[in-house]
Amino acid sequence: MEDCLPSFCYFCAPAASYGMRLPLIVPYFALKMKIRFISFASGSSGNCYYLGTDGYGFLVDAGIGVRTIKRHLKAFGIPLESIYGIFVTHDHADHIKALGPLGEKCHIPVYTTERIHEGINRSYCVTEKLYTCVRHLAKGEPFLLRDFRITPFEVPHDGTDNVGYCIEADGKTFSFLTDLGRITPVAAQYICKADYLVIEANYDEEMLRTGRYPLHLQERIAGGNGHLSNRQTAEFLADHYDGKLKYVWLCHLSEDNNHPELAYKTVEQKLRERGVVVGRDVQVVPLKRKQPSDLYELE
Ligand SMILES: [Zn+2]
Ligand SMILES: [Zn+2]
Repeated sequence: MEDCLPSFCYFCAPAASYGMRLPLIVPYFALKMKIRFISFASGSSGNCYYLGTDGYGFLVDAGIGVRTIKRHLKAFGIPLESIYGIFVTHDHADHIKALGPLGEKCHIPVYTTERIHEGINRSYCVTEKLYTCVRHLAKGEPFLLRDFRITPFEVPHDGTDNVGYCIEADGKTFSFLTDLGRITPVAAQYICKADYLVIEANYDEEMLRTGRYPLHLQERIAGGNGHLSNRQTAEFLADHYDGKLKYVWLCHLSEDNNHPELAYKTVEQKLRERGVVVGRDVQVVPLKRKQPSDLYELE
């Protein structure tokens, strides 16, 4: 298979690593496959998520140390060589820290918009600049990475440029929205499409207001280009639940202004008020800040 053309082969090295945008083509031999999801870390001290099949996968963000990422991959039995790309949401340090070593030393393609790439290479925390691993994506344009169709979309946040990702494979839709200050119509569209959702629940409004953060920082976090509160996420989910959503992972919880139980409770309660029972109708899991989650197999 080594000599087959990358743009037409579903088995050899991903066409995507050659920087091509391909239309969605479902191969006739496609079988039901399991999609695996793991959060390696989630929060302002670092974010890194894995999505894949039993043969290969990719990361969303790489904002923890490269040695930690390698250790987690090994612990879950995922070879580094099976990581075919890293999809980056924005250029804040807690999302990009390990891109230099993973992209340039390990030759893993780094996918994101041109402006986010510019921001990454300007960032103080990326000492090894990205050249050979740079791959550009455009918002709203689906990109095919083997069995996965990955669409970046605009979210409001204060990075150089900011995206969420809608990831479709095997008839399942996984939407990924971390670091966003409000739910815009575009973000809403991708949340409502999802069977599986990673969405930010950054802070409890009361804890932020009465905590130790100075006013300017409180305003930045609570502003329309900052982060989503537990209440904002909970109300949106409760207002738009239509029976499709199976799993919600709450991500990027603040260490100072939130607790996992509080984030969970806020979402659970808002859903319950609309007659949606967590554990029966939908699963809700707050992600840990510094430890890996379980491995989820999405049937
Ligand atoms: Zn962040
Ligand atoms: Zn951010």
